[in-house]
Amino acid sequence: MKIPSSVKIGGLLYTVDIIPGLSAAREDGALGSCDSNLCTILLDNILNEDQLVSVFIHEIIEAINAMYELGLEHRQITSLETALYQVFSDNKLLKGSKT
Ligand SMILES: [Zn+2]
Repeated sequence: MKIPSSVKIGGLLYTVDIIPGLSAAREDGALGSCDSNLCTILLDNILNEDQLVSVFIHEIIEAINAMYELGLEHRQITSLETALYQVFSDNKLLKGSKT
């Protein structure tokens, strides 16, 4: 999967940027972030191609969680990230990525 420069989530257009030093600049060391007010998703450029897709999925779930007030905890979002990534990967839905 090629990471797009923008993605529509629930009808809102989120911009997606892959930037250097994101995790180093954050107290929690997160490799991705999602701001549902600014409609931005940031991904750290130290991630390899497969990790980028996985963290991208995570941040999409974060956006959905905020938008629909699902109240999911971070660990639940991480489980969904892992499970969805595996489905996409095992079924060869991540065209263009090394799976
Ligand atoms: Zn998270």
